[in-house]
Amino acid sequence: MASAKVANLKRHGSSMKKDSPLGENEDDKPAPTLEDLDLLKTIGTGTFGRVIQVRQKGTKQYLALKVMAMAEIIRLKQADHIKSEKEILSQSHHPFIVNMLWACHDEKFLYMLMEYVPGGELFSYLRTHGFFKNSDANFYACEIVSALDYLHSQQIVYRDLKPENLLLDTEGHMKITDFGFAKKVIDRTWTLCGTPEYLAPEIIQSKGHNKAVDWWSLGVLIYEMLVGFPPFYDENPFGIYQKILAGKIEWSKALDPVAKDLIKKLLVHDRTRRLGNMKFGAEDVKRHRWFKGINWDDVFNRKLKPPIVPKLAYSGDTTNFDDYSDDNWQDAAAVDQETKDIFADF
Ligand code: AMP
Repeated sequence: MASAKVANLKRHGSSMKKDSPLGENEDDKPAPTLEDLDLLKTIGTGTFGRVIQVRQKGTKQYLALKVMAMAEIIRLKQADHIKSEKEILSQSHHPFIVNMLWACHDEKFLYMLMEYVPGGELFSYLRTHGFFKNSDANFYACEIVSALDYLHSQQIVYRDLKPENLLLDTEGHMKITDFGFAKKVIDRTWTLCGTPEYLAPEIIQSKGHNKAVDWWSLGVLIYEMLVGFPPFYDENPFGIYQKILAGKIEWSKALDPVAKDLIKKLLVHDRTRRLGNMKFGAEDVKRHRWFKGINWDDVFNRKLKPPIVPKLAYSGDTTNFDDYSDDNWQDAAAVDQETKDIFADF
């Protein structure tokens, strides 16, 4: 398949009570409340809401506010996912995971206040560059492996790894966002969710799944970063599922053989033999030859040199994001008491 075919492929859109601060700013100042924020510009949209760049009135600090309409969440039966997103983000503290300051709700919306990650989506850079060179893909993979290792150690499965959910910070380091499908999983879980191109076979087959699905998606992601398009692709999801289940992959001759070996070991159908999901867990991935010479403490401490440093005129620059209309989003319907009760502790 020609990479041009997927050049513009955007996979999006498959995915007030008193403020309750969950944390403080990094510099230990109290987190701002909703009233302390100026809403500036929509920088992203999701299935039931949007992410708006905001600025704290006093400090002039830029932040990102995720706004989701409660009525839509209920209509799409996503209440549990959203509650889980908030719980997991409030408990997750890792250099490559977006930091959430607090969550709250009013008559219509749920809100999550996060740090503003100004570099935009890895997706945009990947489509602009076509594909990444081996060492660049390796850098992003290192930071993702570090984050997945952390999440899995907390029994959290992320379930939506793809370049659209990977943002670059000011220096070019990774920040994983959108925990809408993340879930604490002790044994296995059964919900069909994720993005077609990145789904592991056991999700498609409704066999019950666990953290192994993230290692599968990592294989898809490394392939897409190095080749420019995903290994299993079709115009419609059903065709994608068929290709995933058939497991046939076209290998580019230009692909680094060591990277190919890792991808093959991640894209293993039998999840008990998939790298990352065996006896030594993430260690097996970290010890693969593609990561030879990597000091994983250095990775965690953000000491690796980012290959792309986002162009930013100032800390609030939004030019790395697409333009979205800011019209009429406040017009969502107010919800009844029953719905409010569902989100009472949000
Ligand atoms: P989400 O609904 O969480 O998938 O977010 C939709 C889009 O908004 C993402 O793909 C990003 O482009 C953007 N976005 C989400 N969170 C942030 C953030 N903290 N800083 C900057 N942009 C973000």
